[in-house]
Formats: sequence, structure tokens, C-alpha cells
Amino acid sequence: MERVPIPSATGGRKIWLCVGTLLDGVSTKPLRNAHMVYDRNQILFVGENPPPADMLKAGQREPDLNLSDYTLFPGLIEAHAHFFLEGGELDPDKRAACLKQTPGELQRLARPRLEKLVRLGVIAVRDAGDKDGVGLALSKLCASSDRPLMPYVDSPGAAIHHKGRYGSFMAEPMEDFSSSGQCVAARVKAGADRIKLIPTGIINFKKGAVTAEPQMTTEEVRELVVAAKTFGRQTFAHASGDAGIERAIDGGVDSVEHGFFVRADQLAKMRDRQIAWVPTFAPVQEQVDHAEVMGWDGEVVSNLRKILDQHAASLVKAHEMGVRIIAGSDAGSYGVAHGIGFLNELELMERAGLPAAAVINAATGAGSSRLAFKEKFGQIKPGFLSRFILTRHSPLEGVANLRKQRFVMFDGTAFESDENFDSTGL
Ligand SMILES: [Zn+2]
Repeated sequence: MERVPIPSATGGRKIWLCVGTLLDGVSTKPLRNAHMVYDRNQILFVGENPPPADMLKAGQREPDLNLSDYTLFPGLIEAHAHFFLEGGELDPDKRAACLKQTPGELQRLARPRLEKLVRLGVIAVRDAGDKDGVGLALSKLCASSDRPLMPYVDSPGAAIHHKGRYGSFMAEPMEDFSSSGQCVAARVKAGADRIKLIPTGIINFKKGAVTAEPQMTTEEVRELVVAAKTFGRQTFAHASGDAGIERAIDGGVDSVEHGFFVRADQLAKMRDRQIAWVPTFAPVQEQVDHAEVMGWDGEVVSNLRKILDQHAASLVKAHEMGVRIIAGSDAGSYGVAHGIGFLNELELMERAGLPAAAVINAATGAGSSRLAFKEKFGQIKPGFLSRFILTRHSPLEGVANLRKQRFVMFDGTAFESDENFDSTGL
């Protein structure tokens, strides 16, 4: 296959590209035959006409590269992943053993995932919580002066739940503190970039519904949200089942994670209040795909399929209604490998009925403009970091094309990926 080497932008070098198709991460229509100028730090120019001469080398009249059969779009943002878990490990006993490792061991296992993520095209990850400090350690590494090749990472540290209720493997209880304010303050002191709440339990697959009462009242959610705001932190809520989703919405969280069984009137409230939705199809799909290992019988599998179909219908409705949809895979969950599971999630969103362009926006600009990340990425726009993907296999013709040969540009350095990692260690 013919390969076009994308020049790295080292030193003060500016590179002018002309590409056949440019997706900026936000617009619904691509730019055709678009021009872009970037250096190692940032995107300097984007437009349908050539850049102004004062932006270029003296006398430069032609682009450094003319890539008329290429599509360019922002690097991908994984908005829901648990770095402390290895999603690719399919043996339930080994998974259970993994969880018993020390925080230091869990961190050591998480580190090699970072560079692989960049090479897959995932340039940012919102960690969704663990109580062993793995996500926080990676967030600190990202902010440090000796940051290795890694995606942007931020983390809530330990999620917040109620003692004895769902989530003890990734959360610490509110009951450890005498008030919501103190609970949030302790998370912030530990380094939390945002606050993760667990107001509900999970789906009872045997019953095909969320059968447990929500853990938190609306008032409890609201108090935690208010406390988080005083520290300038966003909140994201694990919420499935319409009763618990209602409490998360009314409590004023920034995003609803999972959101299985969300109702249309709740989607309307989310749209009106700018609450984002991260639907995470992958972990439930993996339960179907590995039903035998999980010990699910035909009835459970049929429940799972019904849940996924209903979730797909809600996703399409949410898109049509104008709810902000953000892609996250819940990587680390059973069968959901870091990076690879995210590419799979995007395919599941497309299969659910979202247009490919909407899926790309959910994986780029939607998160970039709503989740208050500390770096500017996820859009092709002047001032944003030089983190983008170039490919001859346009994702507009099918999101599965994201797995095919592509170049990932990360802060001026180009990486070529023409194969995908197996899920070992991811
Ligand atoms: Zn999660």
C-alpha cells in the first residue's frame, strides 16, 4: 500500500496541509478541499481557502502536502474508562484476582496502556474512578513536567456512593464524612479533577430492569453537585433506571453516565439543562457476546438484547432532540479493552442508528466543549492542540474505518498505525 509520510512539526516548523475532507469535531457537514496550518503546539489556520501568506514560509505558494484522498478529524476522546481495570481479560477468576493487587501494581499495569491509546488515536481519556488512586496517579503524570507519550487524562479518584450499596470496588462511602461538603472537599484534596457520583445501582440482567431503589436522594445529589461547584469541579453520575436518572437530572449533574432506561421526557430535560449523556453500549453488548462465560441463559440474553434495542432507540431519539451525546465505552468493564473497546463503542453507536458524522462528533467536539478539560483538544480549530487523525479510510463511510491504516498526529509528532493491538493488557 502506498504510504504518505506526514511530516512531524518539530522546532518552529509550520506545516500546511490540504485535505480532501475535514471534520472539525462539531459541524455536521465536512469541509471539502480544506486547508490547515499547524505547528507542534497548535492548529494555526483552518479554512476553505489557502492560508494568508504571513502565516507561511516566505515564498511558499503550495501546501507541504496535498492529500486530496484523505480525511482529517480530531483525535478521539474516551469519556468513560476505568484505568485500574483490564477490560480485555476475559477470565472471570483472573479479573477477580486482578482487583486484589496493590495500588502500585495496578498503576504499573495501567502505564503501558497510555502509549497504545495514543497510537490507536485516543488522545484524551476521562477516567471514571477507582479507589486505589490509579486514575489520579495518571492524571498527575499527565500534568507533570516529565509527561510521557500519553493521552490527556483526568480522574475523579474514588467515586462517591452509599455504604453497603453498589460501587464499593470503585467508590468510597459518603458515610466516611459528616457532610457532603466534607466528602467532596476530601476528594478535591486528593487531586480529583471532577466528582463522580453513584446515585443508582446497576441493571439486574436476570430481571431485565434496574430493580434496586436509587442509592441517593435528589437532595443528596444536589448537595454533592453544589459542593463540587464551589471547588470548580464538574460532576458525572453513574445512573441507570428512570427513577435514579430523574434524581441525577434534578440534582443538577453535568452528565448522566450509562442512562439505561432513560425516558424521552428525561432526555428533554437533559437537553434543556445542558446535561450530557454518555450511553456506554459496550459493557452490555459484551455480556451478550460472552453470555456463555458469564453463565447467562437464553432468557437473560433476550433481556440484554431488549435493553440494548431500547437504548439504541433512546440514542436516536436523543440525537434528534438535540441532547449532547458524548462517547464513552466504560473500558475496564468485562470485555471492554481500553482503546479497542472505545472503537467498538463507536461502532455500536453507529449500529444503533446515529449517522457516522454524529458519532465522530460525540467522540471529539462534544466532549471537548462540554467536559471542561484542562487542555484544548477534540476540535480542528485555531488554538486547539495539534492532535488529530489523517486517514484515507473515511469514517464517514463507516465508523469501522477508524481501525484501518491511519496517521495520528500528537503534538507535532506523527505516528502511523496500520494494525490494531490485541487486547492483552488493555
Ligand atoms: Zn464506569
